[in-house]
Amino acid sequence: MVTASKDLRTGRSIWEWQRATSVKYGPLLRDIEVDVLVIGAGITGAMIADALGESGLKVAIVDKRGPAKGSTTASTALIQYEIDTPLTKLSLKIGKANAARAWRRSRLAVDELAARLGELGVPDVVGRDSLYLAGNLLDQDELAREHDARRAAGFASRYFDRKALRARFGIARDAAILGYGNLAIDPRKVTLALLKAATEQGSKIFTPVEIVDIDDKKTGVTATTDDGRRIHCRHLVFATGYELPDRVPRRGHKIASTWAIATVAQPRRLWPEQCMIWEASEPYLYLRTTPDGRVICGGEDEDFADSDERDALLARKTATLTRKLGRLMRHLDPTAEFAWTGTFGSTATGLPTIGLVPKMQNCWVALGYGGNGTTYARIAADVICGGITGRPDVDADLYRFA
Ligand SMILES: Cc1cc2nc3c(=O)[nH]c(=O)nc-3n(C[C@H](O)[C@H](O)[C@H](O)COP(=O)(O)OP(=O)(O)OC[C@H]3O[C@@H](n4cnc5c(N)ncnc54)[C@H](O)[C@@H]3O)c2cc1C
Repeated sequence: MVTASKDLRTGRSIWEWQRATSVKYGPLLRDIEVDVLVIGAGITGAMIADALGESGLKVAIVDKRGPAKGSTTASTALIQYEIDTPLTKLSLKIGKANAARAWRRSRLAVDELAARLGELGVPDVVGRDSLYLAGNLLDQDELAREHDARRAAGFASRYFDRKALRARFGIARDAAILGYGNLAIDPRKVTLALLKAATEQGSKIFTPVEIVDIDDKKTGVTATTDDGRRIHCRHLVFATGYELPDRVPRRGHKIASTWAIATVAQPRRLWPEQCMIWEASEPYLYLRTTPDGRVICGGEDEDFADSDERDALLARKTATLTRKLGRLMRHLDPTAEFAWTGTFGSTATGLPTIGLVPKMQNCWVALGYGGNGTTYARIAADVICGGITGRPDVDADLYRFA
């Protein structure tokens, strides 16, 4: 077994019933030889395959479930450069210069993603600002310091005290920071569009195909599938999300559980700027809107990974999210029409680990981390493609295995 199977998500995600572009895929009927094998056809694998498209390398993507059938369809899809670890807190963990570099790299990743999705004409990609509310992680003074740190690192940021926050957004909290230029996407549409672009550039998708064994050598890697076929490749990339490959070191990595709801459509009741809203709290609450006028609200994270325990809490967490949303935005109808839950990953620093897997040869990994998983998937695409094509990424050192 290469990755232990997990029940990644349960409930009714809002994205599943949306019509999306179709992608060509099929079973693997014989042994094949490629330059790069990507395991995982979620948003991370899709970004990597798309980024490899221009390299001229022969690429195969395999997935045991199917395109966008894993965690990707559970994502609430707020694509932010503001990562979960505030700049001031990350500075204490990895130093001020590296923290600013990591934040700037996330900013670039969101811009890069916006440009690529614009180029492909992917529907339902909307630019959004984001409002970060004071909470138990950063109170109003700490939030003011966070605002100063962001400005000093070159990020546009606006600070609101209680009065200004109420006047502009109608929200009763002690303070907030407004950040600019993020994205709200439909993660399934984006994944399928990127996979389609990759196939149009020559990549092949094989599914359902599970990789059950890997033989890595200096000269190349052989992956064996569940029905005994072999895929020979020069480089192998694990884009297996929260189903962590067993030979990848997990120090500092934690798997937990999270919940989300989407309300009834109410385009006339939404706040004027429809900025994304999130709290500097643990556990945090966050919200965004959808193109058809719903509000997606998520959070209520718990530290455990057991999926039975997670699923059993769906009704209770739905009620909590509904109540908290109603309390924060009093003019909204918080009634949930969709409710779902999923497995979720995080790291001690909030940064992902991306790069060559220690003690494996020619094997790369891009793990699908937490609330910034999509931003990090874009960075992983740069770092891994750069490594494979001999153009090392300037920020690769921020993410490699310690
Ligand atoms: C409720 C919720 C809300 C979230 N909100 C956000 C958000 O707002 N913003 C954000 O950026 N991120 C968010 N995330 C995180 C985001 O969903 C993940 O970072 C992202 O989906 C991970 O994508 P992935 O492609 O790495 O993983 P997946 O989508 O899980 O894809 C991995 C694929 O690998 C396949 N696979 C695994 N092992 C094998 C094997 N041995 N052989 C073949 N195939 C295999 C699986 O079948 C799967 O399809 C959220 C997650 C949840 C659960």
